[in-house]
Amino acid sequence: MGHKYSIPKVMNDALSRLKKYYPTTLTAWDDVTTREGYVTAQPIDAFEAVRLARLTETPSLLPSALFACCENMCSISVKDDCAPPEHQLLLYGLSVQDSRRLIKGRENLTLGVVERLLKLVAKHSSLPSDYRASHRACVEKVIAILNLRTLDGSFFKKTRHHAALQPLCEWFVNLTDTAATGRQGLQCESCLKYLRRTDEKSRGEAWSHLPETFDLHVNDWPSAPE
Ligand SMILES: [Zn+2]
Repeated sequence: MGHKYSIPKVMNDALSRLKKYYPTTLTAWDDVTTREGYVTAQPIDAFEAVRLARLTETPSLLPSALFACCENMCSISVKDDCAPPEHQLLLYGLSVQDSRRLIKGRENLTLGVVERLLKLVAKHSSLPSDYRASHRACVEKVIAILNLRTLDGSFFKKTRHHAALQPLCEWFVNLTDTAATGRQGLQCESCLKYLRRTDEKSRGEAWSHLPETFDLHVNDWPSAPE
């Protein structure tokens, strides 16, 4: 029952614009200005995009559209404290399966942020010993990010699904609890350069795993760059 044989031209045009707005590469996703040139989207439209992806059998839209749904769940009236979220998502026209994907995916994204942060700390702490010896204060500051108070007093607010595809490095620059480090955040250019490079790689990996994050398999979804 392929819709591809019956989709009118106007739908094809809309689909090709949606594919530009909900792309398959991180580079395209980051280019918000170009994406917005194709579609004027409101937060609620991400749900519509998921429905359209299902209706038109266009799975490549799903990972970034579901991610956009996650980003926008807070700005629409999906509340965790009344009816089960899954039930509410059905009101936005998602199937039971996609509602579950969204809820589970949001948890996975949050875990992903924490994992990325831990990985950054671990990698920085395992740099060669002579480097660490001359950057002892930097190592302490990087580890200090795991102290709940250093991250602008809002560790749990920051380490949520919203940050899953964002660069995390600036968090180290903006550590605020001076009691943890006795000083300001990380300012060392050499360590920041290393952390930014490592973080960019892990951000690429997070993007490449976006389909699995939502329990999806999408042919031709790009794998992480080497
Ligand atoms: Zn340093």
